[in-house]
Amino acid sequence: HAKREQTGGPIWFESWMSEEYRESVVLEAELREAIARNELQLFYQPQVNLKTKTVDGCEALLRWFHPERGMISPAVFIPIAERSMLIEEIGMWVVQESVNQVRRWEGTPLESLRVSANLSVKELVSGRIVELLTNVRDLYPGIEQRMELEITESFGVFSDTRVFDALQTLHRLGYRLAIDDFGTGYSSLSYLSRLPIQRLKIDRSFISGTDACSNAPLIETIIRLAHTLKYDVVAEGIEQAEQGENLRKLDCEYGQGFYYSRPIPADEFEIWYDRYQEDIKQSG
Ligand code: C2E
Ligand code: MG
Ligand code: MG
Ligand code: MG
Repeated sequence: HAKREQTGGPIWFESWMSEEYRESVVLEAELREAIARNELQLFYQPQVNLKTKTVDGCEALLRWFHPERGMISPAVFIPIAERSMLIEEIGMWVVQESVNQVRRWEGTPLESLRVSANLSVKELVSGRIVELLTNVRDLYPGIEQRMELEITESFGVFSDTRVFDALQTLHRLGYRLAIDDFGTGYSSLSYLSRLPIQRLKIDRSFISGTDACSNAPLIETIIRLAHTLKYDVVAEGIEQAEQGENLRKLDCEYGQGFYYSRPIPADEFEIWYDRYQEDIKQSG
């Protein structure tokens, strides 16, 4: 097994380890330093009301700017972080930074937007994130209404009472909760109806690269299921106007995707928002 000292010590490799695994061990060591070195940043992507076209909120998506490798996707480094408690450190940073962003937008036109942060279920097990979010609400009353937490379903997670209890606590604190990537994971219907959530996010694989019509029966079934449980629905991966239009006709409330905007830094997001507001005013 790989042995590594906590702070920048040598990394030992065994001959049986694959190139990929060695690579991920190096990345993990570097990721450990990334927060202190200010290499993490949140990007924001709008979530649009498909009926009124207004922007309802935005999703905070993590980016790692590595000094040599450039930007590394969370799809690469989050799974690596999830192998250790590193994911919790990252989650603490993500929550804190999302809170900071909500506060920076106070008193600006973006004040009405909700910020959605992603949390891996691994982050909910120890209770530190829940404790942080409890303190945040005590410190800034009302902020819980302007934040949402997106939880990705994965096998059996909601039967873990620690995860279930953490969700209950967050719900009682007033935070909104959404299930991410719905339709690709393993959520059991019996748990789905008992979760203290407000929202399902339909995985983008049902939408991007399709006209959303070919998948309409499936998408419609997910939307009906959500509405039966009194959840609202966000469709991810909208890349063309037509997809948004088709989803609206299927009664999907919200949409998100490159068609509206890619995830961008906060300052660019502010500019995007101004321009978008102008556009919808003009198109009447
Ligand atoms: P996710 O939460 O489902 O985020 C949506 C992903 O879809 C994002 O990828 C986003 O850039 C991408 N996307 C948005 N619109 C479109 C579109 O129209 N077409 C296509 N093809 N893709 C689109 P990203 O930013 O690479 O994030 C990947 C995943 O990494 C996220 O999936 C989430 O599970 C995870 N992640 C991101 N930030 C965090 C974080 O702060 N904490 C945790 N635990 N996980 C995170
Ligand atoms: Mg998400
Ligand atoms: Mg996800
Ligand atoms: Mg998703």
